[in-house]
Amino acid sequence: MARPVYRFAPSPNGFLHLGHAYSALLNARLAAETGGCLLLRIEDTDESRARPEFTSAILDDLAWLGLSWEEPVRVQSAHFADYEAALARLWAMEAIYPCFCSRKQAQQQAPAGRDPDGQPLYGGTCRGLSADIAREQIAGGAVHGWRVAMAAFGDPAAAVWGDAMIAKRKVGSSYHIAVVTDDALQGVTHVVRGKDIEPATPLHGLLQRLLGLPAPHYHHHELIRDAAGQKLSKSSGSTALRQLRADGVTPADIRRRLGFG
Ligand code: GLU
Repeated sequence: MARPVYRFAPSPNGFLHLGHAYSALLNARLAAETGGCLLLRIEDTDESRARPEFTSAILDDLAWLGLSWEEPVRVQSAHFADYEAALARLWAMEAIYPCFCSRKQAQQQAPAGRDPDGQPLYGGTCRGLSADIAREQIAGGAVHGWRVAMAAFGDPAAAVWGDAMIAKRKVGSSYHIAVVTDDALQGVTHVVRGKDIEPATPLHGLLQRLLGLPAPHYHHHELIRDAAGQKLSKSSGSTALRQLRADGVTPADIRRRLGFG
């Protein structure tokens, strides 16, 4: 069997917390136990939120925890051309279409119902636009993002997302298309990530099917919660690895606390 390839793929929108540490340690342990390898990917396509200082902090915190990964680290913002190419292929097969509605316009025309992220389902205004008009509007810089033509190309598991937006303007915030493209390009065989992302997995499966990409195995682990049972957020200071480190907590303490001791 081919060597298993795991990856940890944080977004540099804040400092890593205990939940990230759990995910990274779990991927590292599974890679070690199976004779596989661990890759690191920085998911910084959301240019409104990603910051280079968080990327540096991620590398530093992971090394402090005692983790290592195979080089090179893939930094998504250096690979927009790969995501553009995937979008072009999907558009050529009419599996996606450009959407020119602002967020507000999309919400105003929305049919009843919400997607798993709680956003209103898209009403489909731009679905039937001719390719010529769409191209003209794109050239004029009007495109807001790219949506899946779900009724024609979707499958029942992904249909809960409606005509989901898989990439936003200039491929910034292109989480769905970027994650699927990169897992394939990096040869990832096992995706191990938090349950918060599980609802997006059928959408990733759909994009893999449309693009003819191999589907990795998926496992979605439980989320680490704070003492009050709340999900940790990037701003949750007390569980940030930086803060714990400043407070004198050691990597061994963290491993023990997360069940890797
Ligand atoms: N970049 C995503 C995050 O930090 C994770 C993506 C994934 O593991 O597929 O939430």
